[in-house]
Amino acid sequence: MAKLFTLLFLFVSTFLFAQVQSPEAFLGYKLGTQFSRHADVVNYFEHVAENSKMVTYQTYGKTNERRPLTYAIVSSEENSANIETIRTNNLKSIGIEAGSANPEKAIVWLSYNVHGNEASSTEAAMATLYKLITEKKDWLENTVVIIDPCVNPDGRDRYANWYNQVKASPYNPSQDATEHSEPWPGGRPNHYLFDLNRDWAWASQVESRQRLKLYNQWMPQVHVDFHEQGINEPYYFAPAAEPFHEIITPFQRDFQTQIGKNHAKYFDKEGWLFFTRERFDLLYPSYGDTYPIYMGAIGMTYEQAGHGFAGLGINTDEGFELTLEDRVAHHTTTGLSTVEVASKNATTLTSEFKKYFADTNTKYKSYVLTGNADNLNALTDLLDIHQIQYGFTNSGTMKGYIYTNAQSGSMKAENALVVSTNQPKGKMVQVLFEPKAKLSTPLTYDITAWSLPYAYGLNAVASTSSVSYTHLTLPTTPYV
Ligand SMILES: [Zn+2]
Repeated sequence: MAKLFTLLFLFVSTFLFAQVQSPEAFLGYKLGTQFSRHADVVNYFEHVAENSKMVTYQTYGKTNERRPLTYAIVSSEENSANIETIRTNNLKSIGIEAGSANPEKAIVWLSYNVHGNEASSTEAAMATLYKLITEKKDWLENTVVIIDPCVNPDGRDRYANWYNQVKASPYNPSQDATEHSEPWPGGRPNHYLFDLNRDWAWASQVESRQRLKLYNQWMPQVHVDFHEQGINEPYYFAPAAEPFHEIITPFQRDFQTQIGKNHAKYFDKEGWLFFTRERFDLLYPSYGDTYPIYMGAIGMTYEQAGHGFAGLGINTDEGFELTLEDRVAHHTTTGLSTVEVASKNATTLTSEFKKYFADTNTKYKSYVLTGNADNLNALTDLLDIHQIQYGFTNSGTMKGYIYTNAQSGSMKAENALVVSTNQPKGKMVQVLFEPKAKLSTPLTYDITAWSLPYAYGLNAVASTSSVSYTHLTLPTTPYV
């Protein structure tokens, strides 16, 4: 009888006092002592969402190998109950939805593990989620945190599965050990071996297309892309290196520095090494830092030492052992520190965000394009993904900068596609369409030429005046 009561008590208490387990209790190992498989990460996020009113967890798509792409929305219970209003007010404040609003809640989006073999950050995503809803609840009063625990689960499982197969027990920290020599193609790219951190603007991959849809429904004020670099280069965080694209505002620059200083405070306290303002610039628009920046956010890349070389532990050239536990601790610290700064400055972030979208004072006001119908359609498909508005005009001659001969002139504009900067995403229009991006220094991490009219093989004119358009779809028989 006593046994029955005990069982009954356990059964009832499970339901009455259901509580969120730490990642360690749930997974059965301390974070940083194993590489968790994607399915286990998903299970943990589901567990937290089931047991906390501060977290909702959903799927936004599937990878080529059918792994779920997921995101958690983390905020106070009150905000969570009111989340749709918070989301739509944000869009209203920047002109993307009808109406007006002056939101006071900041939205921070943390994207983990876009490069699959930079595998510490997904582990840090679990720690960050748990700490936010246990130790850091106060920050969630005025801040919504969106966590995508793994942007590239196919690549990450490719790495984690390989590592789990070959690692010694205990792990071998010698650089020569098999577990530090990841075979081709490695876990960095997705199923089709595309680098998803070059795909934000071009959206050629299913992961990007599904994520961008969600991103544009939220439009966060802060976005962090978590990465890893070589084992001897401790940790990189904002502020970024030059060149900065000229469209980046003084506020965006300053806020990067504020966030960096907060991280530095925590790193200094622990004696952890880091660097800023080197290597990782802000120009090419298809990264997880620049794309959000051109969409008005404080976009940042964080780089932890490790990468596919490091495994659970590796002896660095500096003569100490770098462990996965260290890497997870560092990424957890910067993630939390980011949310802290956002929370302390939530109203500044939202009002500056609003200003970014209201200011469409760009050199060229309209881009007018003609040419092959398939190419035009391919371009409008891309604009749809980014929710950039456009229209068509069916007569007239346009004057301005002619792309084909790189000088001023005029172009016949029958059945022409018109993309104006006079719209909320006008600055992104400038970045994607302008004939030449200004470089403050030629030393940049990536390419310097991506202008869409050239990329899509279209005739184009960049006009300094606002070209009106009357049709939202191609008006008559398209060019062939
Ligand atoms: Zn990376």
